[in-house]
Amino acid sequence: MRYLILGGGPAGIAAAKTIRKGKSDAEIVIATDEAEAPYLRPLLPDLILGDAGDETILDPQGANLAEKGVRLLTGRRAVRLDMGNRKVDFSDGAQEGYDVLLIATGGKPDVPPPLRKDLPAVRVFDSREDALAIRERAARPGAAVVYGPGYLAIEACRALRGKKREVVWIKPDLPKYGYPIAGELEASILDDVRNRGARILDGEDIVRAREKDAATTVVLTHGGEEIPCSLVVVATERVPSVGFLAGSGVMVGTGVLVDDFLRTSDPNVYAAGDCAEFADKPKGVGRINFGWRSAIRQGQLAGENMGGGNKRFGGNEGDYFWALFGFSLLDRAKK
Ligand SMILES: Cc1cc2nc3c(=O)[nH]c(=O)nc-3n(C[C@H](O)[C@H](O)[C@H](O)COP(=O)(O)OP(=O)(O)OC[C@H]3O[C@@H](n4cnc5c(N)ncnc54)[C@H](O)[C@@H]3O)c2cc1C
Repeated sequence: MRYLILGGGPAGIAAAKTIRKGKSDAEIVIATDEAEAPYLRPLLPDLILGDAGDETILDPQGANLAEKGVRLLTGRRAVRLDMGNRKVDFSDGAQEGYDVLLIATGGKPDVPPPLRKDLPAVRVFDSREDALAIRERAARPGAAVVYGPGYLAIEACRALRGKKREVVWIKPDLPKYGYPIAGELEASILDDVRNRGARILDGEDIVRAREKDAATTVVLTHGGEEIPCSLVVVATERVPSVGFLAGSGVMVGTGVLVDDFLRTSDPNVYAAGDCAEFADKPKGVGRINFGWRSAIRQGQLAGENMGGGNKRFGGNEGDYFWALFGFSLLDRAKK
């Protein structure tokens, strides 16, 4: 039996290890597009701050994959799924077959149209490579603008405040896909971000960004303010990375649509983590259970079910989003 897992984040790794526990002779392959060893995304703000290094951010879950007989193929981006022939095509021309497939490709930041230009000051905040680029730009003179509605923007502000820069947080409306941070918790976090010197433009948005000269980019807000800066960090919500599934027959909404067992519309294809969208039956809407711990739990469950189990996912807001990796949300913001 050959298990193919797309994505080497916490969901993909947890699934691989769970499959191995139940199936000692299975062939298990993880193919992921990043070039490096698996790492802890929640520590990327600390990498920017200089509080964590390349060794510290390595994901301990990913340390013994070879020992467990799991093959990790890095630098492999899936571009097409052929369900009829049970094969996945990759951008380098390679192909991998499967008996059972897990889609665990996570998400990528939703870059707003005014920032979808090739401006050197504009950096998304998602990967280790992004964090290193942000750290390098943060060392230059000039203000930093953070753009995003929620948690990742808070984390970007925390990291940049630690670099003692002028930070302006442009905070558009509530997150579209995840759980909004609201009420007293939001008020407390916003106070803390402000107290540490970041200016918050709540409910604002970006109309345009243009390069003034080699050192300065100018961001224009809806309200008409022009903000000169040397860095714009796109810390928006992660939108599921599912574009490669177009035309495959797997049902996709915002994310890959799964049932309570993390099965997609094809019985041999599962999805888990930030790319999986559940039907929230009481509310009649789809829901993505973002977060590190949620990804691990979903990966474990998908792994069990891919190996013949029949367990239901019991995700809910309290269990998952607020139970963040490491510190609680409020404590992290106050660090
Ligand atoms: C800066 C930052 C800080 C965060 N902090 C926290 C936190 O404190 N607490 C918390 O709970 N969560 C946090 N998160 C969110 C958390 O990292 C995610 O919820 C979690 O990583 C989701 O795991 P996953 O396995 O579903 O996807 P991911 O970790 O995104 O892994 C998916 C992998 O698949 C790869 N991939 C994508 N498309 C393809 C393709 N077509 N082919 C092959 N590979 C592909 C991706 O590059 C990636 O390596 C943070 C995220 C970021 C970006």
